[in-house]
Amino acid sequence: MKEFLQALTDILAVLFGDAPERPRTPRPLPPALPPAGPAAPRADPNEPQDAGEVSDSDDPVVVSHEAEPPRDTNGPEFDPVPAPPPPDNVERPNEPIGPGRPNPPAPEYRASYMWCIDNGHGAFTQGKRSPVLPDGRQLLEYEFNRDISARIFTALDRVGVAYYNVIPEVQVGNFLTERVDRANRLSSSLPKLFLSIHGNAGPAPTLQDFADDTVRGIETWYYHGSTNGRNMAAVFQRHLIERTGMVNRHLRSKVTGQFYVLRATRMPAILTENGFYNNRFDLESMLTAEFRQTIAEAHVAAILEIEANGI
Ligand SMILES: [Zn+2]
Repeated sequence: MKEFLQALTDILAVLFGDAPERPRTPRPLPPALPPAGPAAPRADPNEPQDAGEVSDSDDPVVVSHEAEPPRDTNGPEFDPVPAPPPPDNVERPNEPIGPGRPNPPAPEYRASYMWCIDNGHGAFTQGKRSPVLPDGRQLLEYEFNRDISARIFTALDRVGVAYYNVIPEVQVGNFLTERVDRANRLSSSLPKLFLSIHGNAGPAPTLQDFADDTVRGIETWYYHGSTNGRNMAAVFQRHLIERTGMVNRHLRSKVTGQFYVLRATRMPAILTENGFYNNRFDLESMLTAEFRQTIAEAHVAAILEIEANGI
């Protein structure tokens, strides 16, 4: 354990310290994406995209990340029940839309997984923004999620971890079906894992109102019944709480009405909710570069732990 912690510390020192970057062999061009396979069930625009749309009456299942992992490993990894047919989620892109390419592992790095990293929302997603502060500052969730994702990508590039930026385009709306389809279609010799990064919102009368001051902190969601998803969520939640000292809202899942990106991805999938942007205290942190960097570092530490130990 000591050796592992030291190795992790060394890697993090290289990642975030002043250590000079190693010269890197140029990466070979990755193979083109295969033609579209069978699409995942389409997303219903009324279903929740993230925890900001979950109310207390939804009664989520809450477990501690320190709880004993379940022994039953036969839980479903994706929802066998088909989702409702697609309403056409109208997108009005101003930029070319199309999947990017995965970043393969660096030649000298022994990769364990292909990390499909999803930034949750686009610039046209409705709502998903903090109240405007008296000095004019406001957090837009898509921008927060993308800033953290970008910081994670920078760190993963330095280690050589394989990842796929699922939605590099900014000028999109919910794009829920596309998020899932791209991850499902991606061809990789490495097992795929899906990580969706978000900021949270508590119940409030309008977008310009703050939620109750007690509604704050970090939580990680997994697909109810997925042992791998829960194990993966526990690693992320532990690192997020240890590094930020934020209120621990534990691991969460829903028995019914699960988030589309957890339900339809055919791989272990989790969704991190990194603070409440309509909580006046969390918002102040979430607007800072320091906090975003800490959140990114916690995600990277969790990724490296899972790369080393599996899930
Ligand atoms: Zn979100």
